[in-house]
Amino acid sequence: MYASPIARLVQQLAKLPGIGEKTAARLAFHIIRAAPDDAAALAAAITDVKQRIRFCGVCWDLTERDPCALCADARRDAGLVCVVAHPQDVAAVERTGGYRGRYHVLHGLLSPLDGIGPDELNIGSLIARVKSDQVREVIVATNATVDGQTTAHYLAERLAASKVPVTRLAHGVPVGGELDWLDDGTLATALKARRAL
Ligand SMILES: [Zn+2]
Repeated sequence: MYASPIARLVQQLAKLPGIGEKTAARLAFHIIRAAPDDAAALAAAITDVKQRIRFCGVCWDLTERDPCALCADARRDAGLVCVVAHPQDVAAVERTGGYRGRYHVLHGLLSPLDGIGPDELNIGSLIARVKSDQVREVIVATNATVDGQTTAHYLAERLAASKVPVTRLAHGVPVGGELDWLDDGTLATALKARRAL
């Protein structure tokens, strides 16, 4: 049995995704051994992020300021909206350096098995945004998983009435990939999505 402050810390750490009891205990003892400044900085960072980070009222990305820097940037094309599941996906698309449009963060994917329907996601705000803003194209950049595909098809259906073209990311041969290492599904999709050279 741990002394109660340790038990409390282990219990809180174990709530984090992917952290079991053992890892939580290992992290707790790491924190106990850490320099007081480091431990205080960790605690302050957690408090700070909860106090200062909120949702952007336009794209629902996490931000310190509403609207966020991406939505407030007049140089970015407001006619292009890239729909992603999570804030981390905005960061991933931004790292490519090749996208100059805006975003819309759903905060999840449709997952009927887990009871996640359209009302649990930021889909209503996307539909409203496409209707009211001068959106020319909606790019659905969800994962190539069952939930990702389900969400993409659902969005295409919901947005069909708006007449705004809905596109999605191409699936295919990864850069640097070798054909005989690819799984059949990836190669088959890449073949279907072939384009003129
Ligand atoms: Zn925003």
